[in-house]
Amino acid sequence: MRQQGAWMKWEQAMERSVTWKDIWQWNPQRIKFLIQEVYDVLPSPSNLCIWGKIETPACPLCSKIGTLEHILSSCSKALGEGRYRWRHDQVLKSITEAISKGIKGRRRTQATAKTIHFVKEGQRPEKTPRNRSAGLLPTARDWVMSVDLERQLKMPPHITQTRLGPDTILVSEATKQLVLLELTVPWEERMEEAQERKREKYQELVEDCRRNRWKTRCMPVEVGSRGFASHSLSKAYGTLGITGANRRRAIGNNVEAAEKASRWLWLKRGEQWGQ
Ligand SMILES: [Zn+2]
Repeated sequence: MRQQGAWMKWEQAMERSVTWKDIWQWNPQRIKFLIQEVYDVLPSPSNLCIWGKIETPACPLCSKIGTLEHILSSCSKALGEGRYRWRHDQVLKSITEAISKGIKGRRRTQATAKTIHFVKEGQRPEKTPRNRSAGLLPTARDWVMSVDLERQLKMPPHITQTRLGPDTILVSEATKQLVLLELTVPWEERMEEAQERKREKYQELVEDCRRNRWKTRCMPVEVGSRGFASHSLSKAYGTLGITGANRRRAIGNNVEAAEKASRWLWLKRGEQWGQ
């Protein structure tokens, strides 16, 4: 019960609803894997041993106990071989695609929504109320996004000098705004811990940038290794101004990326890793 009901302790994870449409459209193997991984009933070495099918519950890569959690999230050999990094980058790619669409979409609406407000002689122009709830992306026209996919990112030296390299940096030179986005793909039970660790890691950097008069935001986000997004991801999209159907679509793509990558890691658990 403790093992199969562990999902009840995922406090930061957003609920997922698998609709009938999904069930018709998805590959049956995908649904099977999703259900088995959530309830931890996949034939991991540790489960096979409990079920009396094998003698020792060893991980095929190292000799530690091969639970699902170990294979998908805690194996030091898998980590060293870059397996988890590869999954992280799959999810990061899908997040930055959504942000990049958000930036482009903003440019389009700016180009089409130019209205001229005429003012009668002797009257003062009314101040147009700025929509503060629209998020950060609409507040500048010159956002440039850099992503840490092939090589580690460096902070632009005119903003601050640091050895830290966040996953994604968004800069608007004109408005002196800076957004740091840092992704973790943790085991679902450890989302909160990942959030706190990353926030602490970047705190000093954020303060340095603010001292240099950059309006800085640091947004650690988590997508769990079994395909459940943390509320922090949804909030980060909202802060940027990606909301409604666009946000739902983005999160759907992000969790799918995590889920697919984890399934691949699971299938390759006993095989050589090479891309
Ligand atoms: Zn291992």
